[in-house]
Amino acid sequence: MKAFIRTFGCQMNEYDSERIAYYLKNEGYSLSESLDEAEVIIFNTCAVRQKAKNRLYGHIGSLKRLKQKDPGRIICVGGCTAQNLKDTIQKDFPFVDIVFGTYNISEIGQLISKKKRVKQAICSIKEQGFDYRLEQSERPLPFKAYLPIISGCNNFCSYCIVPFVRGRERSLSADDIINEACRLSRKGVLDITLLGQNVNSYGNDLGSDIDFSSLLERVSRIGIERVRFMTSHPKDFSQRLVRVIRDNDNVVNHIHLPLQSGSDKVLEKMNRKYTLRHYLSVVDAIKSNICNCSITTDIIVGFPGEEEEDFEKTLDAVKKIRFSRAFTFIYSPREGTAAAEMEELVSPKLKKDWFGKLVSLQNRITYEENKKMEGKQLKALVECKSPKDDSLLQGRLYDNTIVLFASPEAVIGKMVDVKVKKAKAFYLIGELVGIH
Ligand code: SF4
Repeated sequence: MKAFIRTFGCQMNEYDSERIAYYLKNEGYSLSESLDEAEVIIFNTCAVRQKAKNRLYGHIGSLKRLKQKDPGRIICVGGCTAQNLKDTIQKDFPFVDIVFGTYNISEIGQLISKKKRVKQAICSIKEQGFDYRLEQSERPLPFKAYLPIISGCNNFCSYCIVPFVRGRERSLSADDIINEACRLSRKGVLDITLLGQNVNSYGNDLGSDIDFSSLLERVSRIGIERVRFMTSHPKDFSQRLVRVIRDNDNVVNHIHLPLQSGSDKVLEKMNRKYTLRHYLSVVDAIKSNICNCSITTDIIVGFPGEEEEDFEKTLDAVKKIRFSRAFTFIYSPREGTAAAEMEELVSPKLKKDWFGKLVSLQNRITYEENKKMEGKQLKALVECKSPKDDSLLQGRLYDNTIVLFASPEAVIGKMVDVKVKKAKAFYLIGELVGIH
């Protein structure tokens, strides 16, 4: 029996898909890359961006043809959009057999079995809960793993739907996390990512002394080759965390720190609860304590009320900080969030102009930062053949930058030393010089 899973959105959704894959495998399904041959099709959806949601609707709509061809095929829609818009999905797409929420993943096997017995569509959405069982996930790469440490978010940034679809913050117990990290280490995992919408809030709800920096230190002591984490909130990024990254070699020198805007006025409207000055002080603490630390970010342009001078402040901040990479987005309102009610909308043309300027500035900086890598010898974790050129292998540097190089496939899954020969706009070309 074949199943097809398509994941939209963030790393938390990718992890949820690994869990879905685990439960499907337990029911006897194997994963397929082909929609046509799959008896069960699962779309694990994202509700963060309006544009993504619109595109998603197109994707779900296109499944109707497959359902008509084979009415026995089971079509499931899960994830944040399902959690948020279950009624709309059921109404607009009556051929969808199962709608399941972000807290119902461990039930997916039972839901599919039930659907095979009953005619009507099934909707299973818990409004809250916590159904993580850490060891129950099916990882696509045996040497890399996500490890969720906290779910949900209490921050209510005015543009964000996450607190409404993932609920309030709930930290997993430190012992469970450490046990799982030990298990993954024994299984040969070389690169682990501690995951959460705001990892820096870890432990606030546990009523114990443990916070994120002490958890990170405990995980790093297990000795996994690379320990990374995401996402951090600038308002909660502590000096102690900077010291833990500095003092533990296997905690990678890469921090994803969403800026969102360089204007205090816009940050306030976004309810981000920090100023540019605070953000710069965090960046300064990182850069002055951690050698060669790569900082990546998220930036939104065209937020309601944003004016030319606000946008200029964002460009100035980008020039000053010199992010290794930035994930840039044009603002679009998400129904149900505070920002969706805001006035003073920025015109689509202006948003597009600003976006173009920001992207070309950041692309130039990314290329210049990549150029600085030329001639350096760096460690890479080899992941796969390059999708760009299958005569080359693809590895990841400490900050997730891709490096391509020629080598026998036997090094896939290993740490290697690569000498960087040439910088490209978004990746590097290297030469294999050693295998660990
Ligand atoms: S910190 Fe803000 S942007 Fe991030 S998940 Fe929470 S509400 Fe959303």
